[in-house]
Amino acid sequence: MRDQDQYSMQDPTTQFPKATAEWKQKQPEPGLQKKMSPVPDAGETSYSGTGRLKGRKAVVTGADSGIGRATAIAFAREGADVLLSYLPEEEADAQEVVKLLEEEGRKVIAIPGDLKDEQFCEQLIAAAVEKLGGIDILANVAGKQQFVEEIADLTTEQFDATFKTNVYSLFWLCKAAVQHMKPGSSIINTSSIQAYKPSPILLDYATTKSAINTFSKALAQQVASKGIRVNVVAPGPVWTPLQVAGGQPTEKLAHFGENTPLGRPGLPVEMAPAYVFLASQESSYISGETLNANGGTPTP
Ligand code: NAD
Ligand code: MG
Repeated sequence: MRDQDQYSMQDPTTQFPKATAEWKQKQPEPGLQKKMSPVPDAGETSYSGTGRLKGRKAVVTGADSGIGRATAIAFAREGADVLLSYLPEEEADAQEVVKLLEEEGRKVIAIPGDLKDEQFCEQLIAAAVEKLGGIDILANVAGKQQFVEEIADLTTEQFDATFKTNVYSLFWLCKAAVQHMKPGSSIINTSSIQAYKPSPILLDYATTKSAINTFSKALAQQVASKGIRVNVVAPGPVWTPLQVAGGQPTEKLAHFGENTPLGRPGLPVEMAPAYVFLASQESSYISGETLNANGGTPTP
């Protein structure tokens, strides 16, 4: 699923494939992108930048795979130095990203660790300040999604881990980053269509995504006078490790994304331009906003 041309005019309904029976697959959490079939396009060979983030210092969480990987590749090709955050189990995916970013001549710092830990979140931002020389962009893309059919089977441990990963880490990373951000800096958080159209099997996950929307709208107003903007990207169904590592029941993957108006799942490479736009100065008058990249499903 590589080498797709993202720039020429074409029909978005056929630009990338629909899911098929071959898409049914399962990996243990957190999953590796390189073990997926088909391997999702995160812009490795297709994204070309135009200098929109020249000289910026960016932190991207969940940067080894999926939407975070596509964002890290795009940021680097737009001229940013990037600190990559991911889990230790994802080193194989992360090293592919490190190599791609180094080929761009960018400074790359790779720091594996668990964002459920407040101290680790603080250390991550401190590492950006020390090793990149500051932080201008924080793209919070990491997330946890594990489907559970019945509330009776949803454990407190999972509920807690989903909130720690998706909401608390955002609080800790934003809190640490804002102290170092200069006017012109940008925070981009990652919500989901699940924030407004929750699936019954994603009770904990969907709830964290609406919390992320509200958190971002409140923080955006709080830091506006410092010249810092806070926005949200809300993807729809996107083909990533999250979905094959417990995010969806395996049999549903054969029809993944077909209920969207565009009739197909999204690819990580299609999410990256939204993060680039919100990170760049082009979105200077936009804060507290949500950019829905969901294949055309109406949103509130
Ligand atoms: P992904 O599996 O490629 O990325 C998720 C990443 O989160 C992992 O790579 C991992 O590095 C990171 N992560 C998870 N738990 C962590 C922890 N405790 N500490 C550190 N890192 C941790 O999947 P993706 O779909 O690209 O997910 C990226 C974001 O997009 C998530 O926030 C997800 O909720 C959101 N999203 C995805 C979809 C979709 O359909 N794929 C739809 C809407 C929103
Ligand atoms: Mg991953």
